[in-house]
Amino acid sequence: MDDEPAAALARAAEAGIHLIPVPTPFQVGDVNTYLIEDDPLTLLDSGPNMGTSLDALERGLAEHGRRIEDLELIVISHQHMDHLGLSQILARRSGAEIAAIDVLAPWAARYDDGMESDDTFANRIMTEHGIPEDMRIALLTLSHAYRSWGAAATVTRPLANGSELQLRDRALRVLHRPGHSPSDTIFHDAQRSIVLGADHLIKHISSNPLIARPLEAPIDEIETPDRPHALQIYMRSLRATRAMDDVELILPGHGEPVTDHVTLIDERFRMHERRAENIHRLISEHPLTAYELAQALWGDVAVAQAYLTLSEVLGHMDLLVAAGRAVEQRDDGVVRFAPAA
Ligand SMILES: [Zn+2]
Repeated sequence: MDDEPAAALARAAEAGIHLIPVPTPFQVGDVNTYLIEDDPLTLLDSGPNMGTSLDALERGLAEHGRRIEDLELIVISHQHMDHLGLSQILARRSGAEIAAIDVLAPWAARYDDGMESDDTFANRIMTEHGIPEDMRIALLTLSHAYRSWGAAATVTRPLANGSELQLRDRALRVLHRPGHSPSDTIFHDAQRSIVLGADHLIKHISSNPLIARPLEAPIDEIETPDRPHALQIYMRSLRATRAMDDVELILPGHGEPVTDHVTLIDERFRMHERRAENIHRLISEHPLTAYELAQALWGDVAVAQAYLTLSEVLGHMDLLVAAGRAVEQRDDGVVRFAPAA
């Protein structure tokens, strides 16, 4: 069994796709970037904007006889800083183009403003769903401190959903799969049955369906847009990927390659169903805020994890509300969830 990841990576290497792991300061550990030996010479994702990451990336490229200056195309899978952070630095040094799903381009160009708007949005969600003020302030401070691990990037090749990114030796179908983030994009090489999947599907952890400000909402808009139903959006994306029955190998943004995506996706669906049932049981005793539900499920988590767990709970509440099994009760600006009568 232990040979399986190695065999999968060997198969990817045969297809000219080489894994270069890059360290991140986050709990998730290394981010997987992929060097694609093709014309243009392509790198999928870049790692966070950090000296040790740049160093690791340079050493990884050198193992394949390449330098940063050789890169011709940098592809960004989604907006999270462990994937996009070094894009602009690499592009500046190499003259490479930067490609990403078109809806991400305006946000990536104004990364700092985008993050600021996202924080304002997250703060409103946290207030509405019962996160105490001291914790919200701590989280926003943390977010500020993290921010420079990302950086603005000018997307010179915006990609339309469903279009093909044509390299000399391969065509990559661009598929928008929002859920983990609003910009998640996977790249399908149908000829080789390989998908570059980034954080859409990860083997050892369930990708958090993080509640993020919709990319369609203008960054400068004062009014905060409605909260997207991130878990439902994510499950729709997973169903679309599950239906891709010619896929044999998914190369993810973290951890080992996925060789049986249908089984893994079915496991994720079962996990979400179980968790929704647990939450339904909890609100049946008395109405609770999403924060109280997160505490009941996971206890007092580290501040850095509070928004992730809140997003999880809200995702499951959205499923229960959509199924007609729960209702939102709004009182003094705070939302509590109760079983449907
Ligand atoms: Zn990631």
